Parts: sequence; C-alpha cells; structure tokens
Amino acid sequence: MDILQHALEQTERENLLRRLVDYIPRDAVHADSEGRQYLMMAANNYLGLTHHPRVRQAAASASLTYGTGSGGSRLTTGNHLLYRQLETALAAFKGTEAALLFNTGYMANVGIISSLVGKGDVIFSDELNHASIIDGCRLSRGRTVVYSHSNMSQLAELLTNTACSGRRLIVTDGVFSMDGDIARLDDIVQLARKADALVMVDDAHATGVIGPGGRGTAASFGLEGQVHISMGTLSKSLGSEGGYAAGSQVLIDYLINKARSFIFSTALAPATTAAGLAALNILSEQPELVDQLMVNAAFLRKELNQAGFDTCGSTTAILPVMAGDAALAVEFAHLMKKEGIIVSAIRPPTVPAGASRLRVTVSAAHSQAELTKVSQAICTIGRQLGVI
Ligand SMILES: *Cc1c(COP(=O)(O)O)cnc(C)c1O
Repeated sequence: MDILQHALEQTERENLLRRLVDYIPRDAVHADSEGRQYLMMAANNYLGLTHHPRVRQAAASASLTYGTGSGGSRLTTGNHLLYRQLETALAAFKGTEAALLFNTGYMANVGIISSLVGKGDVIFSDELNHASIIDGCRLSRGRTVVYSHSNMSQLAELLTNTACSGRRLIVTDGVFSMDGDIARLDDIVQLARKADALVMVDDAHATGVIGPGGRGTAASFGLEGQVHISMGTLSKSLGSEGGYAAGSQVLIDYLINKARSFIFSTALAPATTAAGLAALNILSEQPELVDQLMVNAAFLRKELNQAGFDTCGSTTAILPVMAGDAALAVEFAHLMKKEGIIVSAIRPPTVPAGASRLRVTVSAAHSQAELTKVSQAICTIGRQLGVI
C-alpha cells in the first residue's frame, strides 16, 4: 500500500489530487453536510429535469408498481416492457429506425466501439473526445488514429494515408464536454462518404441542448438519419441515467448480440427507465425549454466575454473559463464556493496540461438574477487572481 500512498502524494504535489465532496441536492439549490446552500453551476442537468414533478412521479410510480431492481440482464429475464417504450421514443426523437439502451453513456461508448471495431480496423478519433470513447477504442483492439481537435484537413489526410484492410470508424463528441464547442459534422459526414467510413457521434451534451427540439448534433446540421451511430445519455439533460445507441435496425440487432457492456450487465432499474421516458416526453412537449437554455447560456457567455474571459469557442451550455494552471483553477473554484456558487475546477488528465479551467454549466432553470450573480463573482475573483 506504500506504493499507492506515494502515488497519491505525488498527485497532490501536482495539484491534481481529487476528493469526494458530499452534497444534498434540492431543486436547483445544493446544500453541504452543514446545511450551507449553494447555487449549482457545475451540473449537466441542463433542463432542470432531475427535479421535475412528472419525472419524480414517474420514477416513484415505476418503483411502486414494478419493484426497485430489474433482476437480470436484458437477454435473460430483465427485459421489461418499459425499455422497449423508452427505446421506441428515443428512436423517434433521433429520427432513426431503432435504439438500444445501455446502463450508462460510458458503457454505451465502450460497448458500441469495442463491438464495431476489431483487429485490422481503424478508428479516427478527435483528440478531445470523452474518456469513455478513448476507453472503447482501447478495448476494441483496432488501431486508433487521433486527429487534432476538429482539424478537418488533417482528418482528410489521415483517411487517405492510413492503410486499412477492414472497417473505418470516425468517432467524435457532438458537443465537446470540456470546451462546449460543436464538432464539424457536415465535413465529417462528407469525408466519411468519400472514405467509406462509419460515423459515430456522442450526443451526451447535445441532447436537449442543440438542434431543433434539442434533438442533437445531426439534427442541428440537418443530417438526421445520416450518421451511422448516434450515441447519447439520459444522465445529462434528461434527468436520469442510462446510455443509448440510435441507428438502423441492423446496427441495434448487432449490438444486442455483440456489445459486451450490454450483454453482461443487469438492466436499468424500472424507476430510472421511467424517469428517462418521462423526461424525454417533457422535452418533446416543451421544446421551449431548449430555447430558454440557449438564452441563459448566451447571456452568461456574453457577460464573460465582455469582461475579457476566453470561453474557447463554446456555443452551448458548457462555458469554460480558462485559468491555465491547475492550482489556480482549484483556487478559483474554492473562492467561488465561498461566494455560494459551485463550479468545477477541471484539471489534467481531463484536459491537457496548461489548460486547467473552471467548467461552468448553465441550466434552463437558472434565473437571470442567478446568472448575473455568477458572472459578477467570476469577474471579481478572476481579476483578483489575475486570470483576466
Ligand atoms: C458524460 C459523458 C459520457 C458518459 O455518460 P454517462 O451516462 O454519464 O456514463 C459519455 N460521453 C460524453 C461526451 C460525456 O460527457
């Protein structure tokens, strides 16, 4: 255990040690174990649906009616009718033939990529893709070629010059999780057509956020149905948990048979599934939630940009506030918390060295007064720390 202790001490010296902090969430306000209240500006709960009365009610009713656990994997005894209902709704929402639920977005990425790609195949992956995509690539045993962030001429060159006897897959975050910018999906789809490659888009931060009705990245480019694999999660804007793949019926039948993270894990709890379905229904009925989210994000972004902060080309609900140094980012977040506002300090390995930052996330449920308070606190503390 000494070796582990040394490794932790080294991590602490680099200002990269992470600790768990307990919070008690109540609506948009979070309290710590001493009862002090905070405004949450770090959650991915973009539409505020984790506390929507209908979503809560759906989870509670499902538990009372069907019990708390599914009791088995989908391919054995756990295939409750609720999953089918949610999958049908997800496929309709994404404009695809079919969809398949996984237990988390992480498991979806790992399962999809490792089953589609094998020895002799090549994956082309954006350097800023989410860790779960990276882990899926590692598990696949295919070759992974990383291209610089959204660098389309480099991707074109790599597609031309990389020898490959098998399948080719281009995989990208739709909305990048730390920078909040959007992948150049129109270019990617065109390049993929020329190179006869499959395209996979991770819509974790795009679902409920971009595109008409919050339908995600492909919809925002008018490319619905033209992406081979749309992946997403119910854990962000959809107030619940669970990942999904959406695409053709053949793709879904293939994943049911080959994706190990789908096959060898117990199906989601009825409450989780029902909550996801209720949230998806609310999003379909109230697309104005997405408009409100965009208004809120644009307001805070403009305030920060006017004060001189670089928000890294974000056009979504994720606003990076660059600090550079890891210790500075941690201090920034600490001072924000003293002001009653929770933001995350993001450090390596989540972001590259020297690119540490606050990751501020906006929700449709934030009020203008709350966002003004946040912007004033960021500006005051940012000046104090010499970040702007
Ligand atoms: C959060 C996230 C995931 C993982 O989703 P979970 O449901 O939280 O496991 C996958 N991809 C991206 C881009 C994410 O931000």
